[in-house]
Amino acid sequence: MAVRGPPCFFCPGGHWLCHNLFMTTVAQTAGILSFEQACDTVLGYCLRIVAPQTEAVPLLTADGRVLAEPVRADRDFPPFPRTTRDGYAVRAADLGSLPATLTVIGQIKAGAGFSRTVESGQAVEIMTGAALPDGADAVVMVEYTAQNGDLVTIKRAVAGGENVVPAAAEARAGQELLPAGQRIRPAHIAMAAAVGKEKLTVYRKPRVAILATGDELVDVSQVPGPQQIRNSNTYSLAAQVAESGGEPLRLPVAPDEERKLTTLIHAAIEQADMLLLSGGVSMGKFDLVEQALTRLGATFFFTGAQIQPGKPVVFGEIPTTRVNGKREKVPGTPGTMPLFGLPGNPVSVMVTFDLFVRPVLQALGGAVPTRLPAVRARMAGDFKTKTGLTRFLPALLTGGVYDPQVAEIPWQGSGDLLASARANCYLVVPPDREAIVAGEMVSILVR
Ligand code: AMP
Ligand code: MG
Repeated sequence: MAVRGPPCFFCPGGHWLCHNLFMTTVAQTAGILSFEQACDTVLGYCLRIVAPQTEAVPLLTADGRVLAEPVRADRDFPPFPRTTRDGYAVRAADLGSLPATLTVIGQIKAGAGFSRTVESGQAVEIMTGAALPDGADAVVMVEYTAQNGDLVTIKRAVAGGENVVPAAAEARAGQELLPAGQRIRPAHIAMAAAVGKEKLTVYRKPRVAILATGDELVDVSQVPGPQQIRNSNTYSLAAQVAESGGEPLRLPVAPDEERKLTTLIHAAIEQADMLLLSGGVSMGKFDLVEQALTRLGATFFFTGAQIQPGKPVVFGEIPTTRVNGKREKVPGTPGTMPLFGLPGNPVSVMVTFDLFVRPVLQALGGAVPTRLPAVRARMAGDFKTKTGLTRFLPALLTGGVYDPQVAEIPWQGSGDLLASARANCYLVVPPDREAIVAGEMVSILVR
């Protein structure tokens, strides 16, 4: 995946200078960062990412993809003054004294034309979606009328323009309706359909290699030995990658042995635009991921964040070009791909993906990087912790739309997959808080 200099304040567009600026900033902060510093580092990196190649896809398969070129209005929207109610097209000034009786000169169905002009004292029966006829300036809802033969009695006045959307009120022909970088959702598909786009040009999905490490891991299909566990991280990561618009490539589990790990990292880099590893980034004797990546020429932007869960999270980049078995950055080529070493604990791996990996994946896919949406909710019970870390704890958002409540889910630490499966949000506890009392408003991140 190509990277370029950010559109930075000092040297707009300058490739290496911007890269150096980013690296200098990183060098000053690398190590274990606060949550905010880690987020800033990730977003700073996202600015350097060059949009990927594009492809045209049929409209119906575009949901979840990222637009690579703007969608424009092919004509005015609405193209004619659109009636929003069933009723009678009138001249508002005719309804000065009520009830008013007008002569009905015709009927207009949605899609139909009408050649006559509505004169004073006249009305036209009209249906929702039909074009307002010349001469009329408003629509009276049918509920306030009574028709008898050619006459209609109107019991309520209307203001000029009422129940009509003027031509071009939503957009003018040629106007940009959806920007490049927009993640396509059903509303965007509807918009594209409305302007006659049978196909959309989207960015190619970034390929994400996912590599779990750990001697204790066996695959889902296997029966674990007494001290073994099944690998769940590459499955949760694959689902998160796919949900975020990437194409997951799950690799075989790497043992806690540097040579085999290195072989698998090489294989991962050959196939992908980003590398995700799980496990082996803590302080244990067999946590070899950082060491293996360093020997392969990786640069680290941070090697931990003051968060729980997920403190050992590692973010960096690795050269994509292989020279005599080593990976090198070849001058003049962009030649690096982002990598994350995520902690092995199943809850940590999901939280760190949500906090740090998703924005990079979005940027690699040409989308605007975003954070999980933050909302405020009332704390359901008392909560105690220690200061020092920003915490993102599995929690349950309940309550009505006017009084959202959040309850902490009891958990046995960051290996407690069940707590994560029960949760629908993260309770965010700032690093300076030791306690939260029931009823207090707190921030949550919605998954
Ligand atoms: P590590 O980060 O390698 O020290 O692993 C931390 C914890 O997460 C250990 O209890 C591991 O057994 C567990 N773990 C590591 N990788 C996985 C995985 N792929 N799936 C499930 N659990 C894992
Ligand atoms: Mg391990």
